Amino acid sequence: MSVKRQGKVHLVGAGPGDLGLMTLRGRELLERADCVVYDALAPRAMLGWCKEGCERIDVGKRAGQHAMSQQEINELLVECAGRHECTVRLKGGDPYVFGRGGEEAAALQAAGVPFDVVPGVSSAIAGPAYAGIPVTHRDCGSQFTIFTGHTAPGKDNVIDLQSIAAVHGTRVMLMGVDRLADTMDGLQRAGLDGETPAAAVQWATTARQRTVQATVATLGQAARDIALSSPAVVVIGDVVRLAPLLDWRKRMPLAGKRIVVTRTRKQAGTLSKLLRDLGAEVVELPTLRIVPPSDRQSFAKAVVNSPHHDWLVFTSPNGVERFFEAFFSVYEDLRELGGARIAALGPGTAEQLRKCGLMVDVMPQKAVAEELIAEFDRKAEEFGGLEHSRVLWVHAQKAREVIRRELEKRKAIVDECIAYDVAPGEIGYGAALLEEGADVITFTSASAAMHFRRMGLELPKNCCAASMGPVTTAALGELGIKAQIEAELHTIPSLVEAITHWTTRTSS
Ligand code: SAH
Repeated sequence: MSVKRQGKVHLVGAGPGDLGLMTLRGRELLERADCVVYDALAPRAMLGWCKEGCERIDVGKRAGQHAMSQQEINELLVECAGRHECTVRLKGGDPYVFGRGGEEAAALQAAGVPFDVVPGVSSAIAGPAYAGIPVTHRDCGSQFTIFTGHTAPGKDNVIDLQSIAAVHGTRVMLMGVDRLADTMDGLQRAGLDGETPAAAVQWATTARQRTVQATVATLGQAARDIALSSPAVVVIGDVVRLAPLLDWRKRMPLAGKRIVVTRTRKQAGTLSKLLRDLGAEVVELPTLRIVPPSDRQSFAKAVVNSPHHDWLVFTSPNGVERFFEAFFSVYEDLRELGGARIAALGPGTAEQLRKCGLMVDVMPQKAVAEELIAEFDRKAEEFGGLEHSRVLWVHAQKAREVIRRELEKRKAIVDECIAYDVAPGEIGYGAALLEEGADVITFTSASAAMHFRRMGLELPKNCCAASMGPVTTAALGELGIKAQIEAELHTIPSLVEAITHWTTRTSS
């Protein structure tokens, strides 16, 4: 009989929405979790960090309609710890700031389940910060108070408006937009000056962030005028005056844009980082996975024989990665490659080669097969042409035949090394991610586009497709998707530039 292992539960704060505001410890735990139990306010996109096969349980609570009672959630956590070694309880913001994390911890303690807590960036401070409001300031806010604007029906934990009106400094209210006008009236009746600056920040730190700035007397109406609803953070105090001056986010070219990145999980990083640096909210939706080629034996043979070539031609960063992974499992020294010249389809592939310590001899600026051949022709004199040269072409299972055909036309002897294949991504929550809408969805290859459809996904309404280049654009066209944005140089930076350009044009 197997002994049942007692797992551990980690109460992890997911931060307010911006994925970059998750702690390192939190992300590490999510990556190794066997099970994640998450709330409505925990960003869905974080589930993409979980390993394959991780059980994901949505206990999402929206105001008023509890998907699961707190008691049920407590019991669920204890039960998960009995089935899994590592359970992450993912909660929006910080788990102990109005998150009922304390109750969950107590339930785990009572059941003898080991747990720990990973604090998160609370919306109470991040919300104001992303709207240009520092919660404290030497001149106008030397202390701050966080309170809830929500009173549980039938409970006697009524907000103590007297003490909140009397307290100095900044006041931050969570869970208070539904009764915003009433609460503001109550605070004034309790003695708070109606002229005190006040602001509400909805969906703070995400692309949907909206801010309304007014005074205690006018905030309720101002919020109603723009139909501001939950979730929102309300800030009251003189610090609110700093907002127009310190609103750093407004100045970022992609602020307010939600952009979906459909590359493989591993590759998404570079594109995501560039987009985030410009202020976009990036959601990674890996439509592709890199898997071994169907004929592993031929791949191994091609790698073993690679030192006998005059040229190595790489047509994708994945090819480089897979090739060298296999190469170093056979050879210990890079010099075994001999003096082969190296060609890369474009800057992305060349960059991957550089990481392996290899410079390229031939590389077109545009990552297209035809351009690579043209570049070979332009440089032919430098290396005496391709006649009788032995070329090893490292590529994906499905590749365009242009390279082989054109190299053979130039009398090269072409060997192929099929290093990997692409399979559809394995995520069950892709549709849910897209339901939240997006402004732009990026496709960096024809296969990313194809697999997007194969996963049964559709472009959200009013979402614009951005393509890496003509081949991807054509593939999208065949799927009935019109790419409104296309990178000029078929590189990641060029794609980002095209998106920024499009954003500036459409919002001016
Ligand atoms: N533990 C969370 C708060 C949970 S209570 C934290 O530390 O942030 C839920 C309330 O948090 C919401 O009603 C809203 O007032 C606030 N909130 C959470 N995320 C928010 C966001 N992205 N923007 C604005 N308010 C948010």
